[in-house]
Amino acid sequence: MEIDENSNIHIPRFEGFAGVEKPLGAGYKPGEGNNPADSVFNRVLPNALTAKSDELFALARKSSLWTLSFGLACCAIEMISAHASHHDLDRFGVVTWPSPRQADVMIVAGTVVKKMADPIKLLYEQMPDPKWVIAMGSCATNGGPYYKSYSVVMGVDHLIPVDVYVPGCPPRPEALIYGVMQLQEKIKNDAKPSLNRELLQE
Ligand code: SF4
Repeated sequence: MEIDENSNIHIPRFEGFAGVEKPLGAGYKPGEGNNPADSVFNRVLPNALTAKSDELFALARKSSLWTLSFGLACCAIEMISAHASHHDLDRFGVVTWPSPRQADVMIVAGTVVKKMADPIKLLYEQMPDPKWVIAMGSCATNGGPYYKSYSVVMGVDHLIPVDVYVPGCPPRPEALIYGVMQLQEKIKNDAKPSLNRELLQE
């Protein structure tokens, strides 16, 4: 340890690792502002970026969501509009797909009648992991106008887990697009272990 005569700042003396020419911290002058950190990694792999694989996969997944093409009632018309040319959901990497075997997201668009409960569960089980569900409209959220009806399930979350709820009867395509963007944010945040820890502590 030595003391800089001008500033009285303690600067650790470090001669570097074997085989590395410049010692760490060389070039640092007190009072000249923050310089980029000098590290062995930067010298061995200059211009290389590092990231956690979970977060990289999450970025890829959130930007290429394939939604299962099926609708249950009037909300499905708004979902179709979101995919059509005016709103063009494809801009967000969201592609509608006619098979559950390659789909990532199930958009439950419409009234979930009890007769459809088993087919919905079967379609969900046929989707590969990881998979997500958006409940679109008040019917899929809690039965909507058919609340406590003899033939309607009071929300699709009684059958399968739901990640995002889009309110409205029917929600406009913009609302569904906002719901998709919230799901993308959730996928990104779920890959961050520090965020998960904070949520668990709450
Ligand atoms: S929420 Fe409204 S628009 Fe959507 S399926 Fe139910 S009744 Fe139809």
